[in-house]
Amino acid sequence: MKKLRLYNLMVPIDSGDKALYRAALRRLGLQREHVRSITLTKRAIDARKGRVEYNCTADVEIEPRYEDDYLHRWDDFRNIGEVPHLPPLEFPKGKEQPRGRIVIVGSGPAGLFAAFVLAKQGYRPLLVERGAPADSRLRSIGKFNNAGGPLLADANAMFGEGGAGTFSDGKLYTRKNKDPHLVNVLKLFVEYGASPDILIDAAPHIGTDQLAPVVVAMRKATEAAGAEIRFHARLDNLEIEAGEVRAAIVNGERIECAACIVAIGHSARDTYDMLNERGVSLEARPFQLGVRIEHPQTFIDEAQYGRHAGEGYRPTHESPKLEMAAGPLPEVADGRA
Ligand SMILES: Cc1cc2nc3c(=O)[nH]c(=O)nc-3n(C[C@H](O)[C@H](O)[C@H](O)COP(=O)(O)OP(=O)(O)OC[C@H]3O[C@@H](n4cnc5c(N)ncnc54)[C@H](O)[C@@H]3O)c2cc1C
Repeated sequence: MKKLRLYNLMVPIDSGDKALYRAALRRLGLQREHVRSITLTKRAIDARKGRVEYNCTADVEIEPRYEDDYLHRWDDFRNIGEVPHLPPLEFPKGKEQPRGRIVIVGSGPAGLFAAFVLAKQGYRPLLVERGAPADSRLRSIGKFNNAGGPLLADANAMFGEGGAGTFSDGKLYTRKNKDPHLVNVLKLFVEYGASPDILIDAAPHIGTDQLAPVVVAMRKATEAAGAEIRFHARLDNLEIEAGEVRAAIVNGERIECAACIVAIGHSARDTYDMLNERGVSLEARPFQLGVRIEHPQTFIDEAQYGRHAGEGYRPTHESPKLEMAAGPLPEVADGRA
């Protein structure tokens, strides 16, 4: 069945699915019965033309019996293209039996995804994380921030379950136009509790307050798939022979391993010192400085909504939203598409 992608469908921000369906059908010159489904794939707020609208991208499935009538003329239309092929997030299975465990160090985004993928592939990896699980980590950070509690070396904004990722803003668009797998990553976040809005928002954003439960749900799924995860478990040393890692020393315990994935972020200076002493090749990256600036909401609204700022358009959980549309089209009140 053929799918077409429609770009720049403009619909009022306070309208629902039906306005999107109408705009899509109008663009194609089709009636409802010609179309099997219309699915919203992207939306971005646009207030540049004096109205506050969503600029939407939607995929349209033509009913197979009308495909021949219609498809030969679709290149006459503007802002229409084929739906790009999305490669599935698949990894070829290894052919050799590993001669020991695969040890992953660090439960930040890099380590957690490595453990998740390997566990799903049946490798039963061991993930060691020097910090605390999310719940006790959150309590320690709360005490430090609000109640004069101590700064704990292994339970802070950098170390602990989810790594720096748990306390990041959860903005998910750093490489959005470069990596076709990003949408697969977003789908995983949704599967483990993030809002489905991240699949359609032009600037997807989970939010710090929502990240910890998503990270915990993903860790539990990783364990259920066969991974072992140990908290308060720090990689202290590596045994390397002839350029190959033989064992990881974790809290003094020697763990034989076939491979060790070191996903320790950028703050573990003690571990980098150890790796340097072991002769592991390290490359200094240019220093990156991030600055978080908090603006008054009125300033943000003016930038986003122009002269309509203050008219209540700011999306909240209560605001009307364009829902993802799938399957049969809903009834349209006035009987027209
Ligand atoms: C305030 C802030 C906001 C951010 N906002 C965003 C954002 O909105 N969007 C975005 O894309 N990125 C954001 N980032 C960046 C993002 O968080 C990082 O790029 C990401 O977390 C890096 O992932 P990682 O897995 O490589 O390392 P990390 O997340 O740093 O995880 C490393 C883990 O390794 C563990 N570890 C270290 N040494 C050892 C050891 N010896 N033994 C065992 N465990 C060890 C640590 O405890 C930690 O849990 C933000 C970062 C910060 C600090």
